[in-house]
Order: sequence, then C-alpha cells, then structure tokens
Amino acid sequence: TTERVFNFSAGPAVLPVSVLQEVQDELLCLPGAGASVMELSHRGKVFIEIMEQAEASIRSLLGISDQYAVLFLQGGAALQFSMIPANLLRDSGKSAQYLLTGAWGKKAIGEAKKEGTVDTIYSAAESNFDRVPTSSDYQVKDDAAYLYYCSNETIQGVQFQSEPACPDNVPLISDASSDFLSRPLDIDKYGLIYACAQKNAGPAGVTVVIIRRDLLAKGCDKLPGYLLYRNHAENESMWNTPPTFPIYVLGKVAKWLTNDIGGLAAMESQNREKAKLLYDVIDKHAGFYLGHAQVDCRSTMNATFNLPSEDLLASFVAEASKNGLQNLKGHRSVGGIRASVYNAMPREGAQALASFMDDFAKKNG
Ligand code: PMP
Repeated sequence: TTERVFNFSAGPAVLPVSVLQEVQDELLCLPGAGASVMELSHRGKVFIEIMEQAEASIRSLLGISDQYAVLFLQGGAALQFSMIPANLLRDSGKSAQYLLTGAWGKKAIGEAKKEGTVDTIYSAAESNFDRVPTSSDYQVKDDAAYLYYCSNETIQGVQFQSEPACPDNVPLISDASSDFLSRPLDIDKYGLIYACAQKNAGPAGVTVVIIRRDLLAKGCDKLPGYLLYRNHAENESMWNTPPTFPIYVLGKVAKWLTNDIGGLAAMESQNREKAKLLYDVIDKHAGFYLGHAQVDCRSTMNATFNLPSEDLLASFVAEASKNGLQNLKGHRSVGGIRASVYNAMPREGAQALASFMDDFAKKNG
C-alpha cells in the first residue's frame, strides 16, 4: 500500500506533506533549471541561491546575527562529537565540561576524551537519565574550553526547558539535533549549536552548525581539512561539495515553518499541545503507563514510557500499528515506547495516538 501512516519515528522522521509534494513536483526538473536539483553544480547560480535562501530562512527563524556563521556540513551529528573538541579542546591546555543527561551526551563525551581533558560535571546516570540538572547541581570551571550539553536526549526523552547556566566567558555548546527549530532560542547565549537535519529539519545528510565567529580562529591548521570549522566558514560551506539535496529540502522545511506555521513561537505552542495530549494520557493512567522522564524535564519531541509487561508492550506496538500508528518502539538500548512528535507530526496524529493509548489502558489496565 502507498497510504501514509502516522509515523512516530525518532529519525529520520516525518516531514511536512506539502514539502514532500513540492519536492515531488520539482524532482524531474526544477523550474527554469532544466534538471533536478540533484543534477546541478553546487557552484552554479541556481544552487547557490537555494543554499543562500535556506541559510537566510534559518537566520530569520532563529534571529541569528552576523556574529555567527551558519554551516551546512556532512558526517551527521556524530561528527560534531569529534569536530567540537578537535577545534576547541585539542592543545588548548583547558578542560571541556560536559553535562551528561543521556545516550547522545555519553557518546559525545567518549569522542571528546580522544581530544583532551573532559570533566563530566553532572551526570544523571544514577537515576537512569530521567532528568536534567538545575544550576545548583553543577559547577563550571571559569577557564573551561566550553560547556557542552544535549538539549533534548532523543532516546531517553528528557529535555532542557531553557539553557543551562554558564559563565559568560565560557562558550556554551549544544547538541540540538532532536529539538532544532522546534522552539525559539536565544542564539547569543551560545558559542556553538548544531543539529543533524533528520528529525525536524529535513532528510539525513546535512548537519547545521551555528558557530560564533570568534571561535573559528581556534582550530589548528594541522587538523584534517574537513574537520576545521574555519575552512567551511571561509568557503561558505563549499570547502567541498555540500549535500545539495538535503540542503534543498531543509530550505523548503524552513520556508514551511515561516509561511505555513508562522515562525518558531507558533511551532513551539503546537508542539507543546501535541506533547500534552500524550503526557495527559500517561498521567491519567499512571501505574499502567510508566513515564520515563521527570515531569519538569519531559521532552516535547520524544515521549518515552513503558508498560507493565513485555507482553503488553508487544501488543501495544502491534495494535497501534494496525491502527496506522507506527514506529513506536523505544530505542533498542532502553526498550519501552517512544513516540516522537516532531514539528511535522500533525495534531491529528498525536490525538489519534492519545485516544489509542486511552482505549488500550482501559482494555488492559
Ligand atoms: N545527537 C542526538 C541528540 C541525536 O538524536 C542523534 C541521532 N539520533 C545524534 C546526535 C546522532 O546523529 P547522526 O546519526 O546524524 O550522527
């Protein structure tokens, strides 16, 4: 069948249907270009305009000033686990400070340790990653190379509601892969913020890195060229061939956010509503649905919960799927259910899942 389902995948994830339709319309021939976007030189006028538009839309949505470079890179979010410490920690004589709130932060720490001294100044491991810290839970060294955190831990479903406290002179770095463009941000608080595209922003293949320009001076020229942020900034993300198709789709998603949704504040309120539909059912049937995250750090993007038994979990997934609610299984490392309700998940999808959950609990609770 070619019927679309409500797709709760954690990523690659649901995209706006209107964007997919535009892509379909232009797939054989981009109007005026005589070819598809995949067949055009990245240095040609048509593609350069597409990339400039994508950047302009992201700058306008997030209110990014000229103090920052916006880069379109490859290697996924995972390459940033290494590029960040390679540029900002290696040979600095300083230590990098990490707030550990889930699986992605853990991987980032593992990679950073290959580059220099890393202090995990806060870890939620003891409570099985169900929370984020408050400012009294950790202390950042004044001369740290940077403070790093993951704003939304996709696997555990825990999210910072606002930026963690950070001394003014220490660059704040965020892995925003799974909540990028889901809410407004005060970019001036950051030294660097990055996100892979395949949750809220587009297809897999492009990673957006927003970096304060003063930090571009820090990387050492001996690094492999691709790893040096400076090279990408100086060449407007054309140090090598950028991922043209994902950037083209990303531009369309950003335009959809601007024109159809009405910006990030509007997107945030829609996202909050969708998440509330799910968390309200979890709370209504507390004891049957076992929510993972502490209430004050529940993710608006990934709702994680478990059921009383493996059998019930299996029948939940199977019955949901029959009802057109798919890809709900939690990450293989933690089990349970994970319902990802990114930007492009329509309210009806979240509503359908909430109703299904209510019925399922009534029948089986
Ligand atoms: N960070 C977070 C928060 C993620 O959710 C993911 C992907 N699920 C990654 C990093 C890794 O991204 P990639 O697979 O693009 O390297």
